[in-house]
Amino acid sequence: MIGSIIENYKLVSVLGEGGMGIVYKAFDLKLERYVALKILSPHALLNPQFIARFKREAKNQAKLTHPNIVPVYGFTEDNHTFGIVMEYVEGETLEHLIKRKGHLSSNESLLILKQILLGIGYAHTKGFVHRDIKPSNVIINNEGSVKIMDFGISKSIHESKGITKTGTKLGTVLYMSPEQIKALEPTNQSDIYSIGITFYEMLSGKTPFEDGTEFEIMEAHLKKNPDKISSVLDNIPTQIDNIISKALNKSLVKRYQTCDDLLNDVDELLVGINNPSPNRKTKRKETTTETTNGRPSLGAKIRFYSMAFLFICLFGLLFYFVYITVSQFWKSSNENRGMNLATNSNEISNYKWKVIASPTSKSLNSICFINDSVGYSCGDQGIVIKTNDRGNSWIILNDSSSINLYDIKFLSTETGFIVGEKGTILKTNNSGQTWQKINADTSNTFFKIYLLRNTSVGFIVGSNGTILKSIDEGNSWFNESSPTNEILFGISFSDSNNGVIVGWDGTILKSTNQGQTWNKENKFTDKYLRDIYFADDKTGIIVGGSGEILRTENGGNDWEKINSNSYSGLYSVIFINNKRGFVLGSKGEILVSSNGGKNWKSSSSGSYASLISISESTAGKIYIVSNNGSIITN
Ligand code: ATP
Ligand code: MG
Repeated sequence: MIGSIIENYKLVSVLGEGGMGIVYKAFDLKLERYVALKILSPHALLNPQFIARFKREAKNQAKLTHPNIVPVYGFTEDNHTFGIVMEYVEGETLEHLIKRKGHLSSNESLLILKQILLGIGYAHTKGFVHRDIKPSNVIINNEGSVKIMDFGISKSIHESKGITKTGTKLGTVLYMSPEQIKALEPTNQSDIYSIGITFYEMLSGKTPFEDGTEFEIMEAHLKKNPDKISSVLDNIPTQIDNIISKALNKSLVKRYQTCDDLLNDVDELLVGINNPSPNRKTKRKETTTETTNGRPSLGAKIRFYSMAFLFICLFGLLFYFVYITVSQFWKSSNENRGMNLATNSNEISNYKWKVIASPTSKSLNSICFINDSVGYSCGDQGIVIKTNDRGNSWIILNDSSSINLYDIKFLSTETGFIVGEKGTILKTNNSGQTWQKINADTSNTFFKIYLLRNTSVGFIVGSNGTILKSIDEGNSWFNESSPTNEILFGISFSDSNNGVIVGWDGTILKSTNQGQTWNKENKFTDKYLRDIYFADDKTGIIVGGSGEILRTENGGNDWEKINSNSYSGLYSVIFINNKRGFVLGSKGEILVSSNGGKNWKSSSSGSYASLISISESTAGKIYIVSNNGSIITN
């Protein structure tokens, strides 16, 4: 089959095989993009009703647009070969991830669970029951986003009488709800049950009922209670046991009613895990002092004096310890005088991140705070949002366009710019109330706009090596000649003359004349380079694919690779002074440096999404946006 063409899809390779057929990676010759094509095996097509039902399902599914659901593009029907065309997701299925790692940590499992719940919860509000949630139908893309596959496909399969048995693999009963086993109509709560089993498997590496024959497994779903995870594994918070027991409850009355109910418990637990309270209330034993006639007894007196003695000894020891520590500190700081500040890990771990309410689930690609309270963000499908109250609430300025917007920047409180797909440049002069389109003479995609401080010069970079320049505060833009055709993602200047642009395939361009000409630097890496930031006129950081961090100390003349301890795609970098910097990762991680980018320490944002853009308000608060619309702050 490889190499053959079905309609306009050329089969490139096999991605996997399931109960319904083989899934191919295919190239869509019309739209010039890769897709996943599931060719249904003949036994899935036995029932003539199936095709009509299947087409109806595919049409319905096209209505599901959510960052955590793999979209179905359509179907193919070519000489009795029937296929489902889906978005091709480059990544790893949850099934494979669990097999590879044995099992996942509580935090990782919760973060994946959360995204499954967001996707399935959304589908439920649109009236869809998935019916077949299991780790092989969940894929985590290379940016760390969780995507649910095979939506509704099972419905048409199972509803076509006569093929239920042949179309079902043993694997399916492992995740089946008691209602489904009793052949009742599955409901939203049936999906919650299957999600519960999937969560159990993430944590422990095993499904709760997997011993015995298919019949015995079905019996267990109907009658048995699963072992508590905390009895199988160490360090499991008791809330996880509670969540699982409520999600897997046989009684529909006691089971979570909605994904939102379950999500609330997950969020609460995540907040607890990521912000452990330092002084949890520990029950203290009530100490009573025995008295005789209102005066302390002899026993009480002896206890008092021995406690006082102990206290004095402890105090003395403490004093001695403080003295030694302080004197050693002075000694070592004198020895280190003139050397660079070391990473202060305590200070770094002091950053506590929390997810705040967002009005969208579309990917937010850029965020920009202009003072302590007003901030803007833009993203996919034309979304533009604004806050006037430090991110407490966000209003939607625009939400109706098919164009993805990639960067937003403001020159003043009134004047701002947005750039995006199809040569889009938008400008506002009234704090985002209205936006005018500025002509760009190109239909390339723009990824970054950079306004050079204290000048009227600005730059836009994008696909096909595009570099645009403005010398009139962004009112008009002209194409500059570019030494590359690669996608350009980021730009920063170390001073008013020296600038660096970074992009695909390790591309680094440099200018020494305020961007009048750009030269290609020697290739340093094959990784894509997504963002660059100069912390001062010498020190700059570039971040990119597979955890790549490059650092310069001489304004971009030489670059040195820095160990990031990360294999994620790194998307964005900023410095809030010349020491303290932040890098965002594709699996929800935030790397922090306190020594001008020489060392980076990773912390979890509490979100498993790809973190895309970061901004600091004038009050020193950090705001981060991500590809599932979540907004994170400290
Ligand atoms: P079932 O038939 O019960 O759903 P399954 O989920 O294991 O079982 P398939 O849905 O046929 O089987 O998928 C087989 C494999 O193909 C998946 O495990 C995954 O690796 C790959 N795959 C499926 N859809 C996609 C996709 N849209 N993008 C990338 N890989 C995919
Ligand atoms: Mg599947």
